[in-house]
Amino acid sequence: MAKPKVAFYWNASCGGCEEAVIDLAEDLLKVADAVDIVLWPVALDFKKKDVENLKDNEIVASFINGAVRTEEQKEMAELLRAKSQLVFAFGSCAHEGCIPGLANFTNREGIFERVYKTTESTKNPEGIFPKVKTKVPEGELTLPEFFDTVYTLDQTVEVDYYIPGCAPPPDIIMNAFTALLEGNLPEKGSVLSPNIALCDECDRNESKPEKLEIPEFNRVHQIEIDPEKCFLAQGIICMGISTRSGCGQRCINVNMPCRGCFGPLDGVKDFGLRTMAGIASIFALENEENLSEEDLSKLMDKLVDPAGLFYMYSLPSSILRRKRMEEK
Ligand code: SF4
Ligand code: SF4
Repeated sequence: MAKPKVAFYWNASCGGCEEAVIDLAEDLLKVADAVDIVLWPVALDFKKKDVENLKDNEIVASFINGAVRTEEQKEMAELLRAKSQLVFAFGSCAHEGCIPGLANFTNREGIFERVYKTTESTKNPEGIFPKVKTKVPEGELTLPEFFDTVYTLDQTVEVDYYIPGCAPPPDIIMNAFTALLEGNLPEKGSVLSPNIALCDECDRNESKPEKLEIPEFNRVHQIEIDPEKCFLAQGIICMGISTRSGCGQRCINVNMPCRGCFGPLDGVKDFGLRTMAGIASIFALENEENLSEEDLSKLMDKLVDPAGLFYMYSLPSSILRRKRMEEK
């Protein structure tokens, strides 16, 4: 019997999700044995043409990591969607936009200006920027269009399942492969990780404060962090309160607070808003009586880059999606 055809592809991402597949170690051999890989640019020499030559729906599942920020990435997502029965958004960039999605705090012009002109190591007095078409004596060179806005995979094509995490850990990936191969996948649209908050499985949960009585917010480099105590009790923002579990407390175990890469629980439309609301709700209870508005405002000023903090992994999937730029 023919093995199910499977494709892996990457869009705007760091490569960590490709590493995550390799992290399957011996299990990768089992997966490779059970499926027929028809595209995996980072590891195997297939071409776009090979995918174009397949029939529609001939691929059983495509695992696409990365956000979508160029015309080429959009085209590949659309091609794989047409050729696949199932599309999995693999990892936080495809799921919610992740770190590449922070580019939605600016636009193409802002990025090009910084990258090709004003970085300290750049000399570009003529202000030459990449162009979609460039004429050279030999003909015309083309580059894919670079979008103003970074999109999640499901803002580009229909997605069947989400494998969360930056990057997804091996057990979450292997569970997804097993469910696919055994025909045991949950309802379409599911995020393939437990729908409970990280706090609920965190080893530090017992010291999590019900009311936050902190004189100020701390950043991780500013204090010596107690490795046993909840980060919130130490004045450090930890997003385990609103983050889906399944990562095995990867950051907490190395004494770092959760930044939310597994995304929200089912039904939450805006991860950043939910996290802010969660922290505000325990914060305000105690302190609103003790602090003046001026004190509160000073305390909030100590929270560095709140937009970047609360939307570190999820800006493109948020309700606002991007910063509104002034029209010229
Ligand atoms: S806030 Fe962070 S450290 Fe505290 S219990 Fe939740 S996940 Fe653990
Ligand atoms: S602790 Fe939070 S940020 Fe760290 S891997 Fe887990 S979900 Fe992601």
